[in-house]
Amino acid sequence: MRALVLTEPRRPLALLERPEPTPGPGEVLLDVRACAVCRTDLHLVDGELPDPKLPLVPGHQIVGEVLAEVPQPGQTPRFARGARVGVPWLGFTCGKCSYCLSGRENLCDAARFTGYQIDGGFAERAVADARYCFPIPEGYPDLQAAPLLCAGLIGYRTLRMAGDAERIGIYGFGAAAHLVVQVARHQGRRVFGFVRAGDEKAKEFALQMGAEWAGASNEPPPVELDAALIFAPAGELVPAALRAVRKGGAVVCGGIHMSDIPSFPYSILWGERVLRSVANLTRKDGEEFLALAPRVPLRTEVNVYPLEEGARALADLRHGRFSGAAVLTPKRA
Ligand SMILES: [Zn+2]
Ligand SMILES: [Zn+2]
Repeated sequence: MRALVLTEPRRPLALLERPEPTPGPGEVLLDVRACAVCRTDLHLVDGELPDPKLPLVPGHQIVGEVLAEVPQPGQTPRFARGARVGVPWLGFTCGKCSYCLSGRENLCDAARFTGYQIDGGFAERAVADARYCFPIPEGYPDLQAAPLLCAGLIGYRTLRMAGDAERIGIYGFGAAAHLVVQVARHQGRRVFGFVRAGDEKAKEFALQMGAEWAGASNEPPPVELDAALIFAPAGELVPAALRAVRKGGAVVCGGIHMSDIPSFPYSILWGERVLRSVANLTRKDGEEFLALAPRVPLRTEVNVYPLEEGARALADLRHGRFSGAAVLTPKRA
């Protein structure tokens, strides 16, 4: 099969011919229909995340068709042959540590992640642990469903950490933000979009997706915010967001990696403001979010690239050359 492979960090992904993966007990073999690109994939290629499996097939927003499932001895398969399933970032948890036992499997000490420690979906075929796959809601085409699996899911968890905040600022208007804004509006919240100064296209996109105001991230919003969500990997947004939220408000960082946060005066955290990060997802997040998606209904803006042009998709993401999400498909037209 063809796969995009990271042979070592700081080298471009290479399109290689590899043997098809074989499912072990408890695993499904998937025919990959689509796999969305995430900023985490860029961090991996750039060597910003420690100790990836090498060589590695990245990609953790997989929509695939079940070709086969090998059940655990004495168990029945979870999915029918031909079922459409999604494979997210969370690929394995131990089920035994204090995090797993307290409903926080996203923090599991022994967690393994798709497209990081486990080969992912930038390939024609993939294998995944059936317990961590989600059925894809009917009515969502493959390409539109793929970005729900990380951009949507992590975005949703980030929004949940904002509690019942009504006026929400979103910093960085990419794949996650364009889905979160729709969920937030559906929940009756108000959204203020922050983009890079001078990026008129991103401003326009934020407004079009449902933000009531859009401006540069170094500009104050027209009203005090109850919470701010940061999706851009730029540490200087943290003090900017703290300055924009009111007393008791929260700033939630949704990314896996961020440049260093510059020092800031205690006065902008004072007033019981909360600064926190969001890490990974739980299976419960996935089930809740995928049940919610068709009710909103979430509309995903996708830019489709054939698998062999994965490197171009990553470069376009890096340089902000598209709005919404990039999705790779191994299917030839
Ligand atoms: Zn991701
Ligand atoms: Zn655990």
